[in-house]
Amino acid sequence: MEALLYERLDDRKVRCHLCAHHCKISEDQSGICRVRVNQGGRLASRVYGKIIARHVDPIEKKPLFHFLPGSDSYSIATVGCNFKCRFCQNADIAQLPSDRQGLIIGEDTPAEGVVSDALAAGCASIAYTYTEPTIFFEYALAVAKRAKREGVHNIFVTNGYMSAKALAMIAPYLDAANVDLKAYTDQFYRDMCEARLAPVKATLKNMKAHGVHIEVTTLVIPGLNDDPSELSALAAFLVGALGPETPWHLSRFHPTYQLTDRPNTPAQTLHQARQIGLDAGLKYVYIGNLPGSGAENTVCPNCGNSVINRFHYNARTSLIDGNHCAYCHEAIDGVF
Ligand code: SF4
Repeated sequence: MEALLYERLDDRKVRCHLCAHHCKISEDQSGICRVRVNQGGRLASRVYGKIIARHVDPIEKKPLFHFLPGSDSYSIATVGCNFKCRFCQNADIAQLPSDRQGLIIGEDTPAEGVVSDALAAGCASIAYTYTEPTIFFEYALAVAKRAKREGVHNIFVTNGYMSAKALAMIAPYLDAANVDLKAYTDQFYRDMCEARLAPVKATLKNMKAHGVHIEVTTLVIPGLNDDPSELSALAAFLVGALGPETPWHLSRFHPTYQLTDRPNTPAQTLHQARQIGLDAGLKYVYIGNLPGSGAENTVCPNCGNSVINRFHYNARTSLIDGNHCAYCHEAIDGVF
C-alpha cells in the first residue's frame, strides 16, 4: 500500500511527513517506526490492514472519562510505533518491528470488516490504540471514514507525534483523543522515548483548534517526571493551552520492558500530583492503575458530589442529567 504524506527526493530517497521525525529514507530502508519502507523510490506502509489486536473495551480503559462514558469501544492496533519508550507497556506489539528486525505480523482485515464488527458488537466508537495509530495512518483513515458514515465515533489513543498535515487529514473524522503528555522536559522525551516534547505540545493545541475532544494522560514515573515543579508546569500548560475543562489522567507506573530499576509509583505521589493539577485550575484530574483510590470518580466542580462513580475503568453509576450535575445542575464538560 503506497503511503500518504511523503515526498520523493533525489537518488530514489524519500522523506516521510507523517510524524515529527520526518525520516529521510533510502531505497530498501525503513523509517524509525520500521513499518514504512522505501520500495524503489516510493514509500509503502507494511501494516495496512494487518491487525495484531482487537478487543471490545470499556471506553474508560482508553482512558476517556468525559466522552460517552459507559459505552464500549472497538479497539484495534497494528504492530509498530514511532517512539522507543523504555517503559513501553505494550512492547510485545508496539516494539515488535524494532526489536525483531522489522518483523510485521497481523491478520489481514479490510476496513469495512472493522466497522461491521464494531457495529455487531454494539460499540459506539472505534479506538485506534494499544500501539501508535499514526504509524498505521492510512488504514486508520480508511476505517475512520467508513465508521463516520455509519455513525460510529473515532478515537485516537496517541503519543501526539503526528504531523500537522496528518492531523488535518484525520481531524474531520476524529471525535476524541487521549494524548500522552509523558513529561514536561525535552530531556525526558529524548532520553526515554527518542523523541521531542515540542511536537506533542503543538499537536495538542492543533487538536483543540480542530475541535477534537481531548483528554491527556501522564504516566508518573518515580524520579523521572514526578518533580512537583515539572508537574505544575505541565498542568499550567494544559489549563492555558487546552482549557481547565481538559481531563488529566495520572497513571501509576509499574516496572516493565527496559525500565525495571524503578519502583511502582507510590500512591502518595499520585495523590500529590492530582492536587497539583487541581491547584493549577484543572477541573477533572484522575488517578489510574490504582483501583480503589476514589480518584477515578467524576466530581462535580461546583457542589463536589460524585456524578460518575468508577472502579478500575468501569463506569458504575452516572448522575449526569444531560450535560449537567443531577445535584446542582452545574455543567459537566464532555460528550455524554
Ligand atoms: S511515520 Fe514517523 S517514524 Fe515512521 S517513517 Fe514516517 S516520519 Fe519516520
